[in-house]
Amino acid sequence: MQTITGKTKLLGIIGDPVEHSLSPVMQNAAISQLGVDYIYIPFPIKQQNLATALAGFATIGVQGFNVTIPHKQAILPLLSEITTTAKLVGAVNTVWYTEKGWKGTNTDVIGFLSPLKSLARNWSNIVPVILGNGGAARAVLVGLSELGCPKIRVVGRDQDKLRQFQQSWSNSELNASIDVYSWDKLPGILSETELLVNTTPIGMFPHNNYSPIESNLWEKMPLNAIAYDLIYIPSPTQFLKEAQEQGLMIIDGLDMLVYQGAAALELWLQQPVPAKIMSQALKQYLGL
Ligand code: NAP
Repeated sequence: MQTITGKTKLLGIIGDPVEHSLSPVMQNAAISQLGVDYIYIPFPIKQQNLATALAGFATIGVQGFNVTIPHKQAILPLLSEITTTAKLVGAVNTVWYTEKGWKGTNTDVIGFLSPLKSLARNWSNIVPVILGNGGAARAVLVGLSELGCPKIRVVGRDQDKLRQFQQSWSNSELNASIDVYSWDKLPGILSETELLVNTTPIGMFPHNNYSPIESNLWEKMPLNAIAYDLIYIPSPTQFLKEAQEQGLMIIDGLDMLVYQGAAALELWLQQPVPAKIMSQALKQYLGL
Protein backbone atom coordinates (compact mmCIF):
# COMPACT_ATOMS: atom_id res chain seq x y z
CA MET A 1 0.00 0.00 0.00
CA GLN A 2 1.47 3.31 -1.04
CA THR A 3 1.87 6.14 1.47
CA ILE A 4 -0.22 9.21 0.72
CA THR A 5 1.58 12.40 1.62
CA GLY A 6 0.98 16.10 1.09
CA LYS A 7 2.73 15.77 -2.27
CA THR A 8 0.61 12.93 -3.66
CA LYS A 9 -1.05 13.95 -6.93
CA LEU A 10 -4.70 13.30 -7.65
CA LEU A 11 -6.26 11.38 -10.55
CA GLY A 12 -9.73 9.90 -10.68
CA ILE A 13 -12.95 9.09 -12.45
CA ILE A 14 -16.19 11.06 -12.44
CA GLY A 15 -19.61 9.52 -13.04
CA ASP A 16 -23.00 8.87 -11.54
CA PRO A 17 -23.02 6.15 -10.40
CA VAL A 18 -19.31 5.51 -10.13
CA GLU A 19 -19.06 3.05 -7.25
CA HIS A 20 -18.99 0.01 -9.57
CA SER A 21 -16.17 1.41 -11.70
CA LEU A 22 -13.23 -0.96 -12.16
CA SER A 23 -10.87 1.85 -13.11
CA PRO A 24 -9.55 2.52 -9.55
CA VAL A 25 -8.51 -1.15 -9.27
CA MET A 26 -6.41 -1.18 -12.44
CA GLN A 27 -5.14 2.40 -12.28
CA ASN A 28 -3.91 2.13 -8.70
CA ALA A 29 -2.27 -1.24 -9.50
CA ALA A 30 -0.28 0.46 -12.28
CA ILE A 31 0.53 3.50 -10.11
CA SER A 32 1.79 1.22 -7.38
CA GLN A 33 3.91 -0.83 -9.81
CA LEU A 34 5.45 2.33 -11.28
CA GLY A 35 6.16 3.75 -7.81
CA VAL A 36 4.90 7.20 -8.81
CA ASP A 37 3.33 9.51 -6.23
CA TYR A 38 -0.26 9.50 -7.52
CA ILE A 39 -3.61 8.18 -6.33
CA TYR A 40 -6.69 7.43 -8.45
CA ILE A 41 -10.05 8.05 -6.77
CA PRO A 42 -13.72 7.59 -7.79
CA PHE A 43 -15.70 10.85 -7.61
CA PRO A 44 -19.51 10.53 -7.69
CA ILE A 45 -20.66 13.74 -9.43
CA LYS A 46 -24.29 14.55 -10.20
CA GLN A 47 -25.05 16.00 -13.63
CA GLN A 48 -26.04 19.39 -12.22
CA ASN A 49 -22.71 19.63 -10.35
CA LEU A 50 -20.40 18.91 -13.28
CA ALA A 51 -19.22 22.51 -13.88
CA THR A 52 -18.68 23.09 -10.16
CA ALA A 53 -16.73 19.83 -9.90
CA LEU A 54 -14.40 20.83 -12.75
CA ALA A 55 -13.74 24.23 -11.20
CA GLY A 56 -13.08 22.50 -7.87
CA PHE A 57 -10.73 19.98 -9.50
CA ALA A 58 -8.71 22.83 -11.05
CA THR A 59 -8.55 24.56 -7.67
CA ILE A 60 -7.29 21.54 -5.78
CA GLY A 61 -4.85 20.56 -8.52
CA VAL A 62 -6.38 17.34 -9.87
CA GLN A 63 -4.02 16.30 -12.72
CA GLY A 64 -6.51 14.39 -14.80
CA PHE A 65 -9.56 12.17 -14.69
CA ASN A 66 -11.67 9.67 -16.58
CA VAL A 67 -15.26 10.38 -17.44
CA THR A 68 -18.07 7.87 -17.44
CA ILE A 69 -21.88 7.86 -17.73
CA PRO A 70 -23.67 10.32 -17.72
CA HIS A 71 -20.94 12.95 -18.34
CA LYS A 72 -19.17 11.75 -21.50
CA GLN A 73 -21.02 14.19 -23.76
CA ALA A 74 -22.18 16.73 -21.18
CA ILE A 75 -18.57 17.60 -20.37
CA LEU A 76 -17.73 18.74 -23.93
CA PRO A 77 -18.79 22.42 -23.57
CA LEU A 78 -16.83 22.68 -20.29
CA LEU A 79 -13.49 21.79 -21.89
CA SER A 80 -11.12 24.32 -23.41
CA GLU A 81 -9.94 21.86 -26.05
CA ILE A 82 -10.74 18.39 -27.37
CA THR A 83 -8.75 16.09 -29.64
CA THR A 84 -9.84 15.19 -33.19
CA THR A 85 -10.68 11.69 -31.97
CA ALA A 86 -12.98 12.99 -29.23
CA LYS A 87 -14.60 15.33 -31.74
CA LEU A 88 -15.28 12.43 -34.11
CA VAL A 89 -16.64 10.16 -31.39
CA GLY A 90 -18.62 13.04 -29.89
CA ALA A 91 -17.65 12.03 -26.37
CA VAL A 92 -14.75 12.34 -23.95
CA ASN A 93 -13.54 9.70 -21.50
CA THR A 94 -10.17 11.19 -20.49
CA VAL A 95 -9.38 14.74 -19.35
CA TRP A 96 -6.15 16.42 -18.24
CA TYR A 97 -5.20 19.87 -17.08
CA THR A 98 -3.28 22.23 -19.38
CA GLU A 99 -2.30 25.90 -19.19
CA LYS A 100 -5.41 26.73 -21.21
CA GLY A 101 -7.73 24.66 -19.02
CA TRP A 102 -9.12 21.13 -19.25
CA LYS A 103 -8.38 19.15 -22.40
CA GLY A 104 -10.30 16.01 -23.37
CA THR A 105 -9.84 12.98 -25.57
CA ASN A 106 -11.41 9.59 -26.09
CA THR A 107 -9.16 6.60 -25.35
CA ASP A 108 -11.97 4.05 -25.96
CA VAL A 109 -10.84 4.07 -29.59
CA ILE A 110 -7.29 2.99 -28.63
CA GLY A 111 -8.77 0.45 -26.22
CA PHE A 112 -11.04 -1.05 -28.84
CA LEU A 113 -8.23 -1.27 -31.39
CA SER A 114 -5.64 -2.83 -29.09
CA PRO A 115 -6.56 -6.51 -29.66
CA LEU A 116 -7.12 -5.93 -33.40
CA LYS A 117 -3.94 -4.07 -34.29
CA SER A 118 -1.66 -7.07 -33.95
CA LEU A 119 -3.80 -9.23 -36.26
CA ALA A 120 -2.58 -9.79 -39.79
CA ARG A 121 -5.73 -8.82 -41.68
CA ASN A 122 -6.29 -6.74 -44.77
CA TRP A 123 -8.63 -4.25 -43.14
CA SER A 124 -9.19 -2.34 -46.37
CA ASN A 125 -11.07 -5.40 -47.69
CA ILE A 126 -13.17 -5.93 -44.56
CA VAL A 127 -16.69 -4.58 -44.10
CA PRO A 128 -17.31 -4.85 -40.35
CA VAL A 129 -20.78 -5.14 -38.85
CA ILE A 130 -21.48 -3.30 -35.59
CA LEU A 131 -24.48 -4.41 -33.51
CA GLY A 132 -25.97 -1.39 -31.72
CA ASN A 133 -25.65 2.33 -32.31
CA GLY A 134 -25.08 3.83 -28.85
CA GLY A 135 -22.05 5.56 -27.31
CA ALA A 136 -19.62 2.65 -27.54
CA ALA A 137 -20.58 2.01 -31.17
CA ARG A 138 -19.31 5.51 -32.01
CA ALA A 139 -15.84 4.76 -30.59
CA VAL A 140 -15.82 1.39 -32.40
CA LEU A 141 -16.73 3.05 -35.67
CA VAL A 142 -13.97 5.65 -35.37
CA GLY A 143 -11.53 2.84 -34.51
CA LEU A 144 -12.54 0.78 -37.52
CA SER A 145 -12.16 3.74 -39.85
CA GLU A 146 -8.67 4.39 -38.36
CA LEU A 147 -7.87 0.75 -39.05
CA GLY A 148 -8.65 1.35 -42.72
CA CYS A 149 -12.08 -0.25 -43.17
CA PRO A 150 -13.63 1.78 -46.01
CA LYS A 151 -17.24 0.76 -45.32
CA ILE A 152 -18.88 -0.03 -41.98
CA ARG A 153 -22.35 -1.50 -41.39
CA VAL A 154 -24.33 -0.65 -38.28
CA VAL A 155 -27.36 -2.59 -37.06
CA GLY A 156 -29.90 -0.95 -34.75
CA ARG A 157 -33.44 -1.40 -33.50
CA ASP A 158 -34.73 2.18 -33.63
CA GLN A 159 -35.05 3.64 -37.14
CA ASP A 160 -35.01 7.26 -35.95
CA LYS A 161 -31.89 6.76 -33.83
CA LEU A 162 -30.23 4.87 -36.68
CA ARG A 163 -30.93 7.71 -39.10
CA GLN A 164 -29.63 10.29 -36.61
CA PHE A 165 -26.57 8.13 -36.02
CA GLN A 166 -25.82 8.01 -39.74
CA GLN A 167 -26.47 11.73 -40.23
CA SER A 168 -24.20 12.64 -37.33
CA TRP A 169 -21.18 11.56 -39.40
CA SER A 170 -22.19 13.28 -42.65
CA ASN A 171 -20.04 16.39 -42.18
CA SER A 172 -17.31 14.69 -40.16
CA GLU A 173 -13.77 13.81 -41.16
CA LEU A 174 -14.44 10.08 -40.88
CA ASN A 175 -12.64 8.12 -43.60
CA ALA A 176 -15.34 5.48 -43.99
CA SER A 177 -18.86 5.29 -45.33
CA ILE A 178 -21.62 4.06 -43.05
CA ASP A 179 -24.65 1.96 -43.96
CA VAL A 180 -27.35 1.34 -41.39
CA TYR A 181 -29.61 -1.71 -41.12
CA SER A 182 -32.51 -2.90 -39.01
CA TRP A 183 -32.03 -6.20 -37.19
CA ASP A 184 -34.17 -8.18 -39.66
CA LYS A 185 -31.54 -7.43 -42.35
CA LEU A 186 -28.69 -8.95 -40.30
CA PRO A 187 -28.91 -12.51 -41.79
CA GLY A 188 -28.34 -11.03 -45.25
CA ILE A 189 -25.12 -9.17 -44.38
CA LEU A 190 -23.40 -11.66 -42.04
CA SER A 191 -21.93 -13.76 -44.85
CA GLU A 192 -20.07 -10.69 -46.12
CA THR A 193 -18.28 -9.78 -42.91
CA GLU A 194 -15.05 -10.91 -41.27
CA LEU A 195 -15.67 -8.81 -38.15
CA LEU A 196 -18.86 -8.73 -36.08
CA VAL A 197 -18.79 -6.40 -33.06
CA ASN A 198 -21.42 -6.46 -30.32
CA THR A 199 -21.83 -3.04 -28.74
CA THR A 200 -25.26 -3.78 -27.23
CA PRO A 201 -25.51 -4.76 -23.56
CA ILE A 202 -27.28 -8.03 -24.48
CA GLY A 203 -25.59 -10.89 -22.62
CA MET A 204 -24.05 -8.69 -19.94
CA PHE A 205 -24.08 -10.00 -16.35
CA PRO A 206 -26.55 -11.04 -14.90
CA HIS A 207 -28.27 -11.83 -18.25
CA ASN A 208 -25.55 -14.32 -19.12
CA ASN A 209 -27.67 -16.64 -21.29
CA TYR A 210 -28.69 -14.01 -23.82
CA SER A 211 -27.00 -13.27 -27.13
CA PRO A 212 -27.70 -10.41 -29.53
CA ILE A 213 -27.88 -12.85 -32.44
CA GLU A 214 -29.76 -16.11 -32.93
CA SER A 215 -27.50 -19.15 -32.70
CA ASN A 216 -28.43 -20.43 -36.18
CA LEU A 217 -26.92 -17.30 -37.75
CA TRP A 218 -23.30 -18.15 -36.90
CA GLU A 219 -23.07 -20.66 -39.74
CA LYS A 220 -23.60 -17.79 -42.20
CA MET A 221 -20.31 -16.17 -41.22
CA PRO A 222 -16.99 -16.89 -42.97
CA LEU A 223 -14.80 -19.27 -40.94
CA ASN A 224 -12.00 -16.72 -40.70
CA ALA A 225 -14.34 -14.15 -39.12
CA ILE A 226 -13.77 -12.50 -35.74
CA ALA A 227 -16.53 -12.05 -33.13
CA TYR A 228 -15.76 -9.16 -30.79
CA ASP A 229 -17.93 -8.45 -27.75
CA LEU A 230 -17.37 -5.22 -25.81
CA ILE A 231 -18.84 -6.88 -22.71
CA TYR A 232 -16.23 -8.22 -20.24
CA ILE A 233 -18.47 -9.87 -17.63
CA PRO A 234 -19.24 -12.70 -18.14
CA SER A 235 -16.20 -13.83 -20.06
CA PRO A 236 -16.95 -15.33 -22.49
CA THR A 237 -20.47 -14.08 -23.17
CA GLN A 238 -23.05 -16.33 -24.81
CA PHE A 239 -22.33 -14.43 -28.06
CA LEU A 240 -18.63 -15.36 -27.87
CA LYS A 241 -19.30 -18.95 -26.71
CA GLU A 242 -21.44 -19.58 -29.79
CA ALA A 243 -18.93 -17.91 -32.09
CA GLN A 244 -16.15 -20.08 -30.64
CA GLU A 245 -18.23 -23.23 -31.11
CA GLN A 246 -18.51 -22.24 -34.77
CA GLY A 247 -14.70 -22.04 -34.93
CA LEU A 248 -14.44 -18.26 -35.12
CA MET A 249 -11.81 -16.15 -33.39
CA ILE A 250 -13.22 -14.36 -30.36
CA ILE A 251 -12.28 -11.17 -28.47
CA ASP A 252 -13.93 -10.00 -25.26
CA GLY A 253 -14.11 -6.46 -23.83
CA LEU A 254 -11.42 -6.80 -21.16
CA ASP A 255 -8.52 -5.61 -23.32
CA MET A 256 -10.55 -2.61 -24.43
CA LEU A 257 -11.18 -1.72 -20.81
CA VAL A 258 -7.52 -2.17 -19.87
CA TYR A 259 -6.02 -0.34 -22.84
CA GLN A 260 -8.36 2.65 -22.69
CA GLY A 261 -7.22 2.99 -19.08
CA ALA A 262 -3.56 2.47 -19.92
CA ALA A 263 -3.77 5.12 -22.66
CA ALA A 264 -5.29 7.57 -20.18
CA LEU A 265 -2.62 6.91 -17.55
CA GLU A 266 0.09 7.34 -20.18
CA LEU A 267 -1.33 10.74 -21.04
CA TRP A 268 -1.40 11.85 -17.42
CA LEU A 269 2.04 10.52 -16.45
CA GLN A 270 3.75 11.06 -19.81
CA GLN A 271 5.52 7.72 -19.52
CA PRO A 272 4.86 4.10 -20.56
CA VAL A 273 2.56 2.23 -18.17
CA PRO A 274 2.31 -1.50 -17.32
CA ALA A 275 -0.91 -2.57 -19.08
CA LYS A 276 -0.26 -6.23 -18.17
CA ILE A 277 -0.28 -5.34 -14.46
CA MET A 278 -3.56 -3.47 -14.98
CA SER A 279 -5.05 -6.51 -16.70
CA GLN A 280 -3.85 -8.88 -13.96
CA ALA A 281 -5.27 -6.62 -11.24
CA LEU A 282 -8.64 -6.56 -12.98
CA LYS A 283 -8.73 -10.31 -13.54
CA GLN A 284 -7.82 -10.96 -9.93
CA TYR A 285 -10.47 -8.53 -8.71
CA LEU A 286 -13.13 -10.06 -10.98
CA GLY A 287 -12.10 -13.63 -10.20
CA LEU A 288 -11.37 -14.37 -13.88
P1 NAP B 1 -25.58 2.70 -24.94
O1 NAP B 1 -25.09 4.04 -25.36
O2 NAP B 1 -26.77 2.59 -24.07
O3 NAP B 1 -25.86 1.88 -26.32
C1 NAP B 1 -26.38 0.58 -26.30
C2 NAP B 1 -26.87 0.22 -27.71
O4 NAP B 1 -27.41 -1.11 -27.64
C3 NAP B 1 -27.98 1.12 -28.24
O5 NAP B 1 -27.89 1.24 -29.63
C4 NAP B 1 -29.23 0.33 -27.86
O6 NAP B 1 -30.33 0.57 -28.70
C5 NAP B 1 -28.76 -1.10 -28.10
N1 NAP B 1 -29.54 -2.06 -27.34
C6 NAP B 1 -29.70 -2.11 -26.00
N2 NAP B 1 -30.51 -3.14 -25.66
C7 NAP B 1 -30.87 -3.72 -26.83
C8 NAP B 1 -31.71 -4.84 -27.15
N3 NAP B 1 -32.33 -5.55 -26.20
N4 NAP B 1 -31.87 -5.16 -28.47
C9 NAP B 1 -31.24 -4.44 -29.44
N5 NAP B 1 -30.44 -3.38 -29.19
C10 NAP B 1 -30.26 -3.03 -27.91
O7 NAP B 1 -24.44 1.89 -24.21
P2 NAP B 1 -22.86 1.96 -24.51
O8 NAP B 1 -22.22 2.92 -23.62
O9 NAP B 1 -22.70 2.06 -25.98
O10 NAP B 1 -22.39 0.50 -24.00
C11 NAP B 1 -22.78 -0.66 -24.70
C12 NAP B 1 -22.08 -1.90 -24.16
O11 NAP B 1 -20.68 -1.79 -24.38
C13 NAP B 1 -22.25 -2.15 -22.66
O12 NAP B 1 -22.39 -3.51 -22.46
C14 NAP B 1 -20.95 -1.65 -22.07
O13 NAP B 1 -20.60 -2.32 -20.86
C15 NAP B 1 -19.98 -2.03 -23.17
N6 NAP B 1 -18.78 -1.19 -23.17
C16 NAP B 1 -17.59 -1.79 -22.93
C17 NAP B 1 -16.44 -1.04 -22.93
C18 NAP B 1 -15.11 -1.72 -22.66
O14 NAP B 1 -14.14 -1.02 -22.32
N7 NAP B 1 -15.01 -3.00 -22.83
C19 NAP B 1 -16.48 0.35 -23.17
C20 NAP B 1 -17.73 0.93 -23.42
C21 NAP B 1 -18.88 0.14 -23.41
P3 NAP B 1 -31.32 1.83 -28.42
O15 NAP B 1 -30.49 3.06 -28.62
O16 NAP B 1 -32.39 1.63 -29.44
O17 NAP B 1 -31.78 1.69 -27.00
